[in-house]
Amino acid sequence: MERTYRDSIPAQVLNQGFEVNGQKVLFKSQPGIFKPAVLQDQAALSITTLPTSPYNDQEREDEWLYSYRSGSIDQHDNRLLRGAMQLQVPIIFFHWVSDNPRTYEAIWPCWIVEDRPQERCVRVQAGRHFVPELSGGEVDLDDEIERRYATREVKVRVHQRRFRKAVLRAYSEHCLICRLREPGLLDASHIVGDADAKGVPAVSNGMALCAIHHRAFDGMLLTIDPDYKVRVSARLLDDEDGPMLEHGIKDFHGKDAMYLPRRTSDRPDRDAPEERLSRFE
Ligand SMILES: [Zn+2]
Repeated sequence: MERTYRDSIPAQVLNQGFEVNGQKVLFKSQPGIFKPAVLQDQAALSITTLPTSPYNDQEREDEWLYSYRSGSIDQHDNRLLRGAMQLQVPIIFFHWVSDNPRTYEAIWPCWIVEDRPQERCVRVQAGRHFVPELSGGEVDLDDEIERRYATREVKVRVHQRRFRKAVLRAYSEHCLICRLREPGLLDASHIVGDADAKGVPAVSNGMALCAIHHRAFDGMLLTIDPDYKVRVSARLLDDEDGPMLEHGIKDFHGKDAMYLPRRTSDRPDRDAPEERLSRFE
């Protein structure tokens, strides 16, 4: 599936299910804890999170805490979580990426590495396949380090996908500076560095920029002021070159950004360009 949906998988496609040995398996119970009937093991096949999950799945840098379903610790879905841990079977972890249409990023394989009944959650990590029988059933330290590292990478990737989706949507897929509307040439750029790799990203710390304006922005060759006017660096303004420099960059100097999100709250935070501008000058 990931091969077909390089970016993220639409929920609609997940809901159509897949075929195992000629039998249709549905992902009907999304979101939540899921085991298809054809699976003999009493273990979850997949778990899913949403930003609005009532179960309040906590974010950690190098692992996830996935909350039990409400009700008894021994409730059916909660038993499936524990089953996946006891049998050491890999699970698919669907991470919410965007809504309208809803999409997920599928992380596989993931492992439930610890049950925490007191906190009503399990610890989940991403990682390579390892065969418990071969390692004597023990999860050794290297596996743990490897999984923490893999999980951290996955979390950053999921965050970036969410950020890109949210920013490009806010700009209806246009470059803020030149209005170019070609998703293949658009990036979601950060105004100030991306320190927060958790939760739902702030669109107001981002801008949709085409590749050339993104590079120019990151290289301090152009910027925007708090009134969203474009400023081109003195060095480029003094330079003379072909049409890309003249029309693609210099012509925008002093002009208004050509595309801003309709929602004011999605527009670049005015303090952020201000701070940048002082460095720019
Ligand atoms: Zn552009």
